[in-house]
Amino acid sequence: MPFATTNPFTGETLKTFPTATDAQIVEAIGAAHAAFLSWRETGFAERAQIMTNAATILRRDSASMAALLTLEMGKLLSEAKAEVELSAAIFDYYAHHAEALLQPERLPVADPAEGEAMLVCEPLGVLLCVEPWNFPYYQIARIIAPQLSAGNTMLLKHASNVPQSAAAFEAVMLEAGLPKGAFINLYAGHSQIELILNDPRVQGVALTGSEAAGASVAAAAGKALKKSTMELGGADAFVVLADADLEKTTKWAVFGRHWNGGQVCVSSKRMIIVDPVYDAFLEGYTKGVAALRMGDPFDPETTLAPLSSQSAADDLKAMIRKAVEHGATATEVGPEAPNHGAFVRPTILTDIGEDNPARYWEFFGPVSMLFRAKDEDDAVRIANDSPFGLGGSVFTGDPAHGAEVAKKISTGMVFVNHPTMVKADLPFGGVRRSGYGRELLGLGLKEFVNHKLIDVV
Ligand code: NDP
Repeated sequence: MPFATTNPFTGETLKTFPTATDAQIVEAIGAAHAAFLSWRETGFAERAQIMTNAATILRRDSASMAALLTLEMGKLLSEAKAEVELSAAIFDYYAHHAEALLQPERLPVADPAEGEAMLVCEPLGVLLCVEPWNFPYYQIARIIAPQLSAGNTMLLKHASNVPQSAAAFEAVMLEAGLPKGAFINLYAGHSQIELILNDPRVQGVALTGSEAAGASVAAAAGKALKKSTMELGGADAFVVLADADLEKTTKWAVFGRHWNGGQVCVSSKRMIIVDPVYDAFLEGYTKGVAALRMGDPFDPETTLAPLSSQSAADDLKAMIRKAVEHGATATEVGPEAPNHGAFVRPTILTDIGEDNPARYWEFFGPVSMLFRAKDEDDAVRIANDSPFGLGGSVFTGDPAHGAEVAKKISTGMVFVNHPTMVKADLPFGGVRRSGYGRELLGLGLKEFVNHKLIDVV
């Protein structure tokens, strides 16, 4: 797909960018490698200063940076501003913590007379990151802040519908003082991923995106024997127990399913409600969803954004139709969609039988699947009946019990009385079809380092 800015609200293509040539890609790898040779020698204080500068620039330019997100992928302007702040907070996190997190670790040895064993973290070199359009800045910050702090250098292949956001982020890093070559935005096509990963100077790849993209890039990395981390799709369970405060719970459910236009890997996509409160939840939830207002994402009155592209909206509508063909009931809720823009009217799916394949799909937009569970055990069973294993949540009046239920849910992250959230100081990642590896905190920082043993005998 060619790189282009197309406003999802107006449908207008505003700017296109040519795909990089193979020669440009090889040149960029060379520049990133040359940058690595000096960047790895820099001290933590210098790296931390650049991370702090990046955070300062993002906050200074928040209005224009946020407007670019809304223009290119259609998220609400208020959400775009929150994303700029979240990205800045990630840079702050590593400015403050990278040095301590990467300290050498002395290993306990059985016999001290045999000497001292130490684990040190050394950067690997040039890394590739392949990122999606749903959080164009946060996704970049989430990978480059830790990896640059660890001493690696980065090549970015961003989604083809957010080329200006990618370029803007590259400019922020250069202004922050990052040496040229240490972070390069490449308008690379799918077929060029192998060229990059087969280059001996490139040491690994981190991808966030769909299962299909993950499978393709992970296969290329495996073939080249390069390390990879994969943050893929999700279908988070939103479990409601009988003692939950239903007013608060329905509000969180509406938010958890519809923020960012419903296009979040950790959106609350499957509401699983125990029988005694199902009907009351459905009534409150339907009312809450009906109150959402679709419109221009720049308009502060708008509360439900368009999808990122017309093709995303068309694909989602086709998935709803297929779910209905397999027996589900689809109820459209709230006002009709505006007569232009990549909108899908909020839809609640019920009666999704055990044999309906839609149970296992990821609906990337304002489509909620509701399941009636016989009791708490049945709710946990339904929650775990998913190929995905990213996030999830449990709503209850008894948080300690909620934490016990959370232990039974088989995902990478579970929240009690809150939909899955993303923060600079919480780790992120999943299991099964949701991918492997973790981002953020020390876990993300150490995904692409050589944990080197130095043993002094
Ligand atoms: P994709 O997974 O296709 O895109 C994500 C990134 O991967 C983009 O940079 C894309 O580039 C790149 N990519 C895709 N296929 C390949 C490939 N074969 N080789 C190299 N790079 C590739 O997401 P879509 O935009 O198509 O969204 C479709 C679905 O993906 C959604 O419905 C949702 O299920 C899931 N998704 C999950 C996200 C998450 O946060 N976990 C984020 C976004 C999507 P390009 O744009 O050039 O195709």
